[in-house]
Amino acid sequence: MRQRVLAAVVVATGLAAGPAAASPDPGTPDLVRYRGPIEHIFVHPLMPSPRYTLRRGTQPQEFNKWSITVREFRRMLPQLYANDWVLVDLESLIRKVRTPRGPVYKMAKLKLPPGKKPLVLSIDDLNYPQYMIDNHLNSKLVLDGDGNVAAERVTPNGTTLVTRRSEVVPLVDRFVEKHPDFSINGAKGIIALTGVEGILGYRTSGDGRRARREQRRAAPIVERLKATGWTFGSHSYAHPDMSTSSLARLQQDTDRWERYVQPLVGGDPRVYVYPFGAPATGAGLAYLRRAGFRIFCSISPAARLVLEDGYVIQDRVRVDGLALLKQPATLKRFFDPASVVDPVRPALTG
Ligand SMILES: [Zn+2]
Repeated sequence: MRQRVLAAVVVATGLAAGPAAASPDPGTPDLVRYRGPIEHIFVHPLMPSPRYTLRRGTQPQEFNKWSITVREFRRMLPQLYANDWVLVDLESLIRKVRTPRGPVYKMAKLKLPPGKKPLVLSIDDLNYPQYMIDNHLNSKLVLDGDGNVAAERVTPNGTTLVTRRSEVVPLVDRFVEKHPDFSINGAKGIIALTGVEGILGYRTSGDGRRARREQRRAAPIVERLKATGWTFGSHSYAHPDMSTSSLARLQQDTDRWERYVQPLVGGDPRVYVYPFGAPATGAGLAYLRRAGFRIFCSISPAARLVLEDGYVIQDRVRVDGLALLKQPATLKRFFDPASVVDPVRPALTG
């Protein structure tokens, strides 16, 4: 199979048609063609009460490995900005070209302000399953009094809070409000959803009255997310390891995602974020492609974007406790891990 590994990739957005290019204000620098690598980092839902989650919760070491605290994310953002990263929309970097042997994908032209580097951000498992709520993470995304996306949670002392300061989505929204040049064309990130416990904290999966009510409650949040630069991808329905699942299991899982999640997020999600970063291959991958997915994301410490015949692979870099504590070298090009680590973290064991 033809394969082109793009360590240094050429990219593009619809930027030429965007408002910045159409009517640059006097302060806008000239845009230049970007030809470097496309980096992609991902996080899990944040820990707003890490003292509880990491010390008194039901699975402190799991959260210590795979999650980061609100404080860590808030320390990361200004460093990403200061280090010249800008958020870009992954799907707009790739264009489909029709050929006699079928569609192939090419990189589109990406133009950025001089010195800036594109960064794709994704959030996995933004579903708020019960174990996250039990460990005092946030419990759902909601709209606040101004119509902005905020996060609701119950603190360890029983207080219910709605705030824009405790989760990735509203923190990025606020940061881009302050620093619009941290985003190209308003891009924010990809929300990679499973479905088995609903989406965004709403128990939307199923066909009963309760599920339908939850679907109605989730709809305005989804609408607002889409209007503010967020996109959606599949993270499977029930989070199986696709590299070891039978084809029947993969088909059933994908069919459920299409039935219970895709109608809620609308459009035609093309991004598939592998659970555990473990890629499907052979007939499994073919099934996912027939289902309409075109960009497949796994995990690696380095930027890797590969154009295959008819689809694209992009690796993502983990930003989690394991990386912060044990593999800080993988993060140094984005921010200084030592200055980001939350002192509340216990030592990582196992
Ligand atoms: Zn996951």
